Formats: sequence, structure tokens, C-alpha cells
Amino acid sequence: MPIPIPPGVQPSGKLTLGNYFGAIKQHIELQQHADAELFYFIADFHALTTVHDAATLRGNVRDAAVDYLALGLDPKRSSFFRQSDVPEVTELAWMLSTTTGRGLLERAHSYKDKIAKGFEASMGLFYYPVLMAADILVFRANLVPVGQDQVQHIEMAQDMAQSWNHAYKTDWLVRPEPRLSSTPRVVGVDGEKMSKSYKNTIDLQMEGKALKKVVMSIKTDSAALEDPKDPDTCNVFSLYALFATPEERDALAARYRAGGMGYGEAKVALLEKIQTYFAPYRARRAELVANPAEVDEVLRDGAARARAVAQATMAEARKLIGLR
Ligand code: ADP
Repeated sequence: MPIPIPPGVQPSGKLTLGNYFGAIKQHIELQQHADAELFYFIADFHALTTVHDAATLRGNVRDAAVDYLALGLDPKRSSFFRQSDVPEVTELAWMLSTTTGRGLLERAHSYKDKIAKGFEASMGLFYYPVLMAADILVFRANLVPVGQDQVQHIEMAQDMAQSWNHAYKTDWLVRPEPRLSSTPRVVGVDGEKMSKSYKNTIDLQMEGKALKKVVMSIKTDSAALEDPKDPDTCNVFSLYALFATPEERDALAARYRAGGMGYGEAKVALLEKIQTYFAPYRARRAELVANPAEVDEVLRDGAARARAVAQATMAEARKLIGLR
């Protein structure tokens, strides 16, 4: 039976609509597959590539944990933990790096995009796909539910597993496959991929005036109110479609095409959708914030289960490569 395991969500900022509709929603839905073992984690080692402040990192990790639980993660069905509580992944990452060509990493779109956006070209940022491959391979996972932006990283994990297996004349490392949601690329308020790193997000925690301000700031073209508009190229419509039923989507698309409707009205419709959809999450979130011990216990239990699997994998890996 497949063991789905995602490469986690980075606590490099607040969780976003992109994280939810690309990854977290399918993580929660996969819990219905009772016979699959699920491992979900908060990728705090990965976040170190962009967050260099202890209090910020700690706060982000706690926020992400509370968010996941409030969105429906069930600790009885999923092992939920901090990446850094399973340090075995760093050992596997080192092993993988010794059989991975540098050229593979140099082709990573995410690395190139980040450098183009002015991020420091640290070794950690470059090495990120190796650690991510280790996150997956340490659980011998064969299904990885992610957003579109991570597909190349999963393909790189496939290549890394293959070169390691080839080097050690084995087929022991399992080839992972990506699993995409029906909405694998969520746009940000500027029309680019929504990402915590790009400061173009609508965060799940936003409400009231802050939420209204960010929704009203979504970039649109300069078509006048009376002009017909193209829903297929509109960022507001694309975000609205995440929440709408097919009928609601068709109705708004028809109004776009007819003209006579301004983008402001579409933004208000989107705002209402966000507020309604996430109301139960906000209520559950408030309960969890008031009960930090519950969150700590979930992470502790999840880490114990995940670490036992990772330790067993590493014992085998060390034997296979001659370290024991
Ligand atoms: P971010 O770019 O916001 O820091 P992460 O690297 O933490 O996101 O990714 C966590 C998960 O969320 C991954 O599975 C990723 O593919 C998914 N994801 C992130 N942004 C988007 C997006 N804009 N659309 C769809 N999925 C996304």
C-alpha cells in the first residue's frame, strides 16, 4: 500500500491559501485512506534557508502546527511532527549528496527563481532538494502530495534515489511519485505563484481589515467598469474559483464577459468566500491557541512515531553502504 508523505510546509511565514489549496487540503483528505500510513511535518530545517531569527522561527513553527490541526489534521490518523525532531534526515541527505551530481541541483527552478529574486545563494538553499529527497526517502514513501512548484523537486528525489541505488547496486530506495491537487498552482496577489517567500500571500490567519486590504490589493488590468473582461486571465477570478461551486464560477465568468461589472465587486465576492470557508478553522484555531499543551503533545507523539521509522531506515542504509 502506498505511504503518502508530503515534504512538509516550511515555517518561513504564515500559512497561505497556496499552501492550503496546493498541499494541506489534500493532506487532510488523504486521511480518509485508512490503510495508508501518513507522515506530515513542519519543515523547520528547510525554513533555516530563509529565517535567521530564533523567536521568529519558533513562532512560525507553532503557528503552522496550530493551523494544521485547526484545518483538520487528525493525530490519530497522521504522524505530525517537526522535521528537526527527526535529525536522521540530515544524515540521509549527506549520503544522497555523495551520489548526486551537482548538475542536477543546478537545474532546480526554485533555486534559480529565489536567486533571481535577490535571495542569498547560500549552500543551504542550493542543497534544499537533497534534504527534501531525504525527507521523502527516509520514510520509503511512494506518494508525495504537493503543489505544482514542488514537482521538479520530487523528480530530483527520483533521480537521487536512482543514482544511490545504482551506486550501491541495489533497488532498496523507493521511487516516489508526486500527487497534485485539483488546484496545484495558486496565484498570489501580484499574479505570480503565491509564496511565503515572495510576500504576495493571502494568509489563512488574515481576517477583518487586514484581509480586506490584501484582497482589495489583488492586481488586475485597467479595464473600465463597462468593458467585457476575461475571467481566464484575472487573478481575482482565479482565487474565487478555488472556493466556488462550478455554477458560481460559471455565473461570475458570464458577468465578467458581459461587461458592466468592476473588479471591486469580484473582490468583495472573493472576500466573502474566504471569510465563510475559513470560519470553522478560525474557531478551532482559537481553541488550540488557548491550549498549547495539546499541540505540544501531538508533535511529541508524532515525532516518536516518525523517528522510529527513520531510525530503522538509517540502520539499514548504514549497513548497505558499509558504515556498519
Ligand atoms: P511557500 O512557497 O509558501 O514557502 P512551501 O515551500 O512551504 O511554500 O510549500 C508547502 C507546500 O505548499 C508544498 O507542497 C507546495 O507545493 C505547496 N504550495 C506552496 N505554494 C503554493 C501555491 N502557490 N500553489 C499551490 N501549492 C503551493
